[in-house]
Amino acid sequence: MKFDAPITIALSKGRIFEQSLPLLAHAGIEPSDDPETSRKLILDTNHQQVKLVIIRATDVPTYVQYGAADMGIAGKDVLMEHGGEGLYEPLDLQIARCRLMTAGYPNTGAAEAKGRLRVATKYVKSAQRFFAAKGEQVEIIKLYGSMELAPIVGLADLIVDLVESGNTLKANGLVPIEHITDISSRLVVNKASWKMKHVLVTQLIDAFREAVNQSTG
Ligand code: ATP
Ligand code: MG
Repeated sequence: MKFDAPITIALSKGRIFEQSLPLLAHAGIEPSDDPETSRKLILDTNHQQVKLVIIRATDVPTYVQYGAADMGIAGKDVLMEHGGEGLYEPLDLQIARCRLMTAGYPNTGAAEAKGRLRVATKYVKSAQRFFAAKGEQVEIIKLYGSMELAPIVGLADLIVDLVESGNTLKANGLVPIEHITDISSRLVVNKASWKMKHVLVTQLIDAFREAVNQSTG
């Protein structure tokens, strides 16, 4: 193990970083800086062979796919949009849990009468797949944030977005309508790193799995 090459783990700051800390700690990894206050993008840890890179949530699968990071922690929402090429997804970390849902004004069902619905989302692939499976023709409008605004300003009839408590929807007069899928963060591993750094990769996966099992008991 001592002779295995070092490993880089990519993750985003905010909820994923915070909720990953106990899992990392169980694997003997403690970051040397807090990404909320530090401007460093690469964080050393107390573990000689492990570094963290702090990047946008949507960039995590790309870094891991190209081997810029050996491992990563990313939401299933982000992984479904990325497609998962070049990645193994060995473990559901059960953190940053929420649901991918359609949402809109309470009476949106009635709007179906008027024909093709417009759906605003940053989850274009997941939305396309969901409506196609229902045999519904919709027009998808790609947005990068603040999806809740789209129905209010008449940009779209529906949105597809992550819902945790529903409070953001409620605050904007919207309601969740259809449940698309449950979301949680997953551990992803670059396929070449899986082979070349097998000892350390396996050790980390086992430690994370143990931590997940303990916390979900
Ligand atoms: P950025 O803020 O950089 O534009 P982002 O909004 O996707 O990116 P976060 O809000 O931190 O970043 O979300 C990161 C991941 O956390 C998401 O991809 C998703 O898997 C999960 N997530 C997002 N919102 C929630 C939520 N309300 N509850 C639980 N998990 C969530
Ligand atoms: Mg956000």
